[in-house]
Amino acid sequence: MDMSTLPRLIVASNNKNKLKEFAAILGHRYQIVSMRDAGIDADIEEDGTTFEANALIKAEYVYRVTGEAAIADDSGLEVDALGGAPGVYSARYCGRHGDDEANNDLLLENLKDVPAPRTGRYVAAIALVRPGHEAIVRRGTCDGEILFERRGTGGFGYDPLFQCETGETFAEVSMETKNAISHRKRGIEAVLTALEEEEA
Ligand code: IMP
Repeated sequence: MDMSTLPRLIVASNNKNKLKEFAAILGHRYQIVSMRDAGIDADIEEDGTTFEANALIKAEYVYRVTGEAAIADDSGLEVDALGGAPGVYSARYCGRHGDDEANNDLLLENLKDVPAPRTGRYVAAIALVRPGHEAIVRRGTCDGEILFERRGTGGFGYDPLFQCETGETFAEVSMETKNAISHRKRGIEAVLTALEEEEA
């Protein structure tokens, strides 16, 4: 297939793994373009209170400045015993953005009196904004349990504490397994389904 004839879809991210995940599911319909390759250098403020709101803020920003179709994700971890925290604050739970070690320490501390199983889920909201269409916003989830200590060396964020449906943590599973069952993959697939339904 000549990819250059496909319409462009700008992903509101420069993260290579995310770009690959979007391309794996939507690459047969769109040329997937990073924010950088679209000439955008912005740190978009995610001040929404839901994953959906934040994904839409990012996709709408990119659409506004480029006029081209844009897609964005916003993700995090919800823990039932904590009323859904850390939720949209997952990346900065400890007060500093992206300090995974401190975020995991705080999560363990806040759950120290909660017996197993400490159920929760990773959530990803995906927002697609295009000229001439209503926005499509969909959610994907991946259920799991928060362990009492870290296991595994792969992944990022809360992965060493998150035991998924295979019984392994997300820091122990292969990249293939994670990508096959991840919240982001499920959210992107839900967007693809909505696109197909729109055309049916
Ligand atoms: P963002 O959607 O890229 O802003 O990510 C939000 C935060 O949620 C990350 O910094 C992680 O703390 C957490 N998170 C989201 N998805 C995952 C995942 O697949 N593994 C581990 N942590 C995740």
